[in-house]
Amino acid sequence: PAPAAATSAATTDEPIQPAVEIKHTQLLINGNFVDAASLKTFPTVDPRTGEVIARVAEGDVEDIDRAVSAARRAFDHGPWPRMTAYERCRVLLRFADLIEEHAGEIAALETWDNGKTLAQSVGAEVPMVARCMRYYAGWADKIHGLVVPADGAHHVQVLHEPVGVAGQIIPWNFPLLMFAWKVGPALACGNTVVLKTAEQTPLSALYVASLLHEAGLPEGVLNVVSGFGPTAGAALCSHMGVDKLAFTGSTGTGQIVLELAARSNLKPVTLELGGKSPFIVMDDADVDQAVELAHHAVFFNQGQCCCAGSRTFVHERVYDEFVEKSKARATKRVVGDPFRDGVEQGPQIDEEQFKKILRYVQSGVDSGATLVAGGDRAGNRGFYIQPTVFADAKDEMKIAREEIFGPVQTILKFSGMEEVIRWANATHYGLAAGVFTSSLDAANTLSRALRVGTVWVNCYDVFDAGIPFGGYKMSGVGREKGIYALRNYLQTKAVVTPIRDAAWL
Ligand code: NAD
Repeated sequence: PAPAAATSAATTDEPIQPAVEIKHTQLLINGNFVDAASLKTFPTVDPRTGEVIARVAEGDVEDIDRAVSAARRAFDHGPWPRMTAYERCRVLLRFADLIEEHAGEIAALETWDNGKTLAQSVGAEVPMVARCMRYYAGWADKIHGLVVPADGAHHVQVLHEPVGVAGQIIPWNFPLLMFAWKVGPALACGNTVVLKTAEQTPLSALYVASLLHEAGLPEGVLNVVSGFGPTAGAALCSHMGVDKLAFTGSTGTGQIVLELAARSNLKPVTLELGGKSPFIVMDDADVDQAVELAHHAVFFNQGQCCCAGSRTFVHERVYDEFVEKSKARATKRVVGDPFRDGVEQGPQIDEEQFKKILRYVQSGVDSGATLVAGGDRAGNRGFYIQPTVFADAKDEMKIAREEIFGPVQTILKFSGMEEVIRWANATHYGLAAGVFTSSLDAANTLSRALRVGTVWVNCYDVFDAGIPFGGYKMSGVGREKGIYALRNYLQTKAVVTPIRDAAWL
């Protein structure tokens, strides 16, 4: 059947001018905004139009080296690891206040550089960043070691110390939130940081990093280097002065990062990688609610979520109704200028992703899946894509196996619990899953059988700062958020002293 035309809001109107001034486009090294050593710059682009927003300093090997030296000095000799944990806590709390004070500007910058809706930036991302910072501020003065009763002849203190200089590499899909998840726990534990932002979205991190200094962060503690992966990113991974590496991005790049870390100084690495998360709708589910949640699970943030519920498994008894209603919901989705009120979906991040997604759509059609909604670009400029739904997909199809990272829902039919568990787990990924059912037994069975880091039961994309997040299998190594993230940024030291004349320990 011919695909339904997306009833998108105009993507052809003049783009709304964002109400924000771009203040920072240089690298932040040792507390100062500076040019790249090469004096090179690169453009960052408005995904609504493809036009250049600003040119940003392009960091490379030499800049990473300068940033690591600054972070090293700040760690080895500066006040940050030496001040009381309560003082560190207060800097992070002041930073959270400043984020809220400047929420409008920060949100506008994020939407301009990334294309996500302003409603999402204002309503979700900026508050989540402030929340994450306060969460880790709260931990700063509650991190302590323990005493081990050893052999009765020795007193053993286990100290938890900051690991040192943390290298952090973040992607473009949630630039601010990824900043918070990485920088929050690292700073709370007393580390210093060199952060490399994604080349598509350098602006918001530079802005909030300036606020962090306003909040009282000493120079050199957080250094932000904009630049590309194979140059600045690889230099950070290989640097002998970096003690720990945290990366979020694609699985392929994660493998490179791990290899570079291993071949240099064996620095420990945590990885948050890709996914192809199942969203399972059982036959006892309320179909209208399941359609809405499954829609949100895949289309949120233009489908650019590592944990997008991008394989929608639907029980055969509710399948036809589910497909019909999902088609109607996707067709109704409002695509347009992310600064406009009521818009649900903005443009994809850049031309490369835009083209890649359209190639996946073509592959879905070629492999025989039924295109029931969308399937093309929306409007005639920028990187907008129609909300797209495939039904009758088969597990072996590329659209059901590979990460599309776009607004494309792939619906598969199943007939029983065992079958859906087998299919849901038949992937190298294991980041997240959604389960939609009114049966407690089905919820318990599925949430234990699925080999993934997060199972959302009758909800999706719940990201409180205290909930650990990360992947099984090739979706990652380690966990972010919650107390789990603190472990990534602490070393463990045993101090053993003999006990003389005291038999009680
Ligand atoms: P990417 O891996 O190409 O880029 C991510 C970051 O890595 C960027 O900062 C980039 O500059 C850097 N990078 C690229 N090559 C590098 C190299 N050789 N050495 C060091 N750094 C390098 O990913 P992308 O395509 O830009 O982002 C989308 C991907 O990220 C998706 O696959 C998505 O699933 C994944 N992602 C995962 C999570 C998670 O939490 N698990 C979150 C967001 C995105």
